[in-house]
Amino acid sequence: METPLRRIHRLPSDLAEKIAAGEVIERPSSVIKELVENSIDAGATKVVVEIVDGGKESIRVIDNGSGIFPEDLPLALERHATSKITKLDDLWNLSSMGFRGEALPSVSAISRFTIESRVAGQVGRKLYLEGGILKSDQPLGATSAIASSGTSLTVENLFYNVPARLKFLKAKSGETSQIRDLIERIALSHPGVHFTFSSDGRKSLDLPTCSSEAARVAQVFGTSENDLEHFSTQFEGSQVWGYLDRNARMPNSRSVYLSVNHRMVRDKLLQQAVLLALRPRMMEGEYPKIFVQVLVPPNQVDVNVHPAKSEVRFERSRDVFQLVHGVIERSGRETNLAFYASPDRSYGWKEPSKINHAFSTEKLTPQPVAAAAMPLLAGDPAAARTVFRTKTDIGFDSVPLANSAREQTSPFSRLQYIGQLKNTYLLCQDETGLVLIDQHAADERVQYERLKKELSESGLKSQPLLISATHKCSDEDAALAIDYGDLFARLGLEIESFGTNCILIRTVPEMLSQQHALELFQAMLAELKSLEGASSVSLVNDPTRHSAKLERLIATMACHSAVRAGQALSEREARALMATMDRTDFALNCPHGRPASIQLSYSQVEGLFKR
Ligand code: ADP
Ligand code: MG
Repeated sequence: METPLRRIHRLPSDLAEKIAAGEVIERPSSVIKELVENSIDAGATKVVVEIVDGGKESIRVIDNGSGIFPEDLPLALERHATSKITKLDDLWNLSSMGFRGEALPSVSAISRFTIESRVAGQVGRKLYLEGGILKSDQPLGATSAIASSGTSLTVENLFYNVPARLKFLKAKSGETSQIRDLIERIALSHPGVHFTFSSDGRKSLDLPTCSSEAARVAQVFGTSENDLEHFSTQFEGSQVWGYLDRNARMPNSRSVYLSVNHRMVRDKLLQQAVLLALRPRMMEGEYPKIFVQVLVPPNQVDVNVHPAKSEVRFERSRDVFQLVHGVIERSGRETNLAFYASPDRSYGWKEPSKINHAFSTEKLTPQPVAAAAMPLLAGDPAAARTVFRTKTDIGFDSVPLANSAREQTSPFSRLQYIGQLKNTYLLCQDETGLVLIDQHAADERVQYERLKKELSESGLKSQPLLISATHKCSDEDAALAIDYGDLFARLGLEIESFGTNCILIRTVPEMLSQQHALELFQAMLAELKSLEGASSVSLVNDPTRHSAKLERLIATMACHSAVRAGQALSEREARALMATMDRTDFALNCPHGRPASIQLSYSQVEGLFKR
């Protein structure tokens, strides 16, 4: 097809304005984001947000900030007019949320727009615009909602002159919940500001000023500060801190709240760091409720890479990743240890409700029993001492921890063993109650941590198969396996291609029996395939990509080498397993996050019998 040669012409300014606005303003929540950020930049301590019909009919944001000088008010509505930066270098030393001078002109171009503002001690001014054209200009009357100083913006009929945009808006409830979520996100980073939000005249959020970050997180999460796990660390001028809701298990990653220099962001890399660090404590398909604040020197982060500034680019992304991952993972280890130190072992752990449903009474809350430390073979005290000085396979330092708690007690080996239930659960008791251990889940965790340690220290030792196993598969699967040949080799499986649709397995890890070679390889290949499929969303340059794969493959191996459910164990074998659990990190859960043991206190047992 022939493309006609066309002349170039300038767009009429109103059209150009609408197009520019479209980059910043996608929906009502983007308007609110811009307006609320302006209020914060103006030093407001109270921000009131009101919407009608999901923001489609009207949006109003009122603050008690500094206000705008009456003679500057028209300037605030001009593109590229800002009070926040004056030169390019300022971009690398930002302390404000805004800097482009685009929000107000953008919003006013695509709505009926009222701005009222007053600086303390001065007469205020009120402007009304339609589609960016000034329609009225008045001094601010005494009836204004603005107190001694502040600004009020009213945005009516958003997109009334951009019908194409209107079509893409969600139903009222969808827009409303998005706005609510946004305000909560902003509030998390600004505890000194009182936020309220009402929709169609009904108050839906009231977040009074908080005296601490923890209090604000608890307020937004709707939980008590006691249920928050705090973590914090610093490294070369950067700082990471945050709070995890210990009890929350969410169905998706939307409750992972990430903030960089007090700006809420969505960042794949940071999110991966958080999820990877929490994997030992979550079940498959469960996600945490967590707030993470990352503070880096402003010159190490580019906030100008996204129209709505909701993405950032780090100069040292790998360091940031490790810092975030490290502090959250460490926090998990410490929680495990604290659990030991607590005599009644009911410390800080409430089970997700799922696990309770065998017992319908509310009062019954089976508690998982603790454990800690890295892998190792039973009864090797020297190894036990080195436990906290290892590096994990992903190369993150695990900081040496005071493990006095573990030295004092060995919660699993000191249990009195009763017997095996259904060849699957180990029944035990101590002075506090009944303890059930899922033998497969527990051993899986033990094997997993052992593999991880071996891998990071010396690589997995392999043994040659007496008779090489052959795996027949599709050409694509064979190619995939060969692509990941090095990864398999690191895990103790040497493979080679044998014709186009056959793989020869020459060695297996030493810990695994020879007959399971093929089964293990097939499970690992299946796991790799599903990971490949899942990560096609551009994790290519993601430093977690490889380590995440390794972790999953190790989990698969652990599953295959662990004691099976249904396998009869002698008392000696059961005790050996319990002893290794004592020396294993995260023995609370299997590598897939399922609980490995639960505890029923005597009072809970008595409750069952209605005593
Ligand atoms: P930016 O925030 O990038 O500077 P905006 O278009 O959002 O650009 O705002 C333009 C200017 O208007 C700001 O720089 C600020 O001086 C002023 N302004 C906007 N909203 C407020 C407010 N709520 N309180 C005080 N000043 C405001
Ligand atoms: Mg702004």
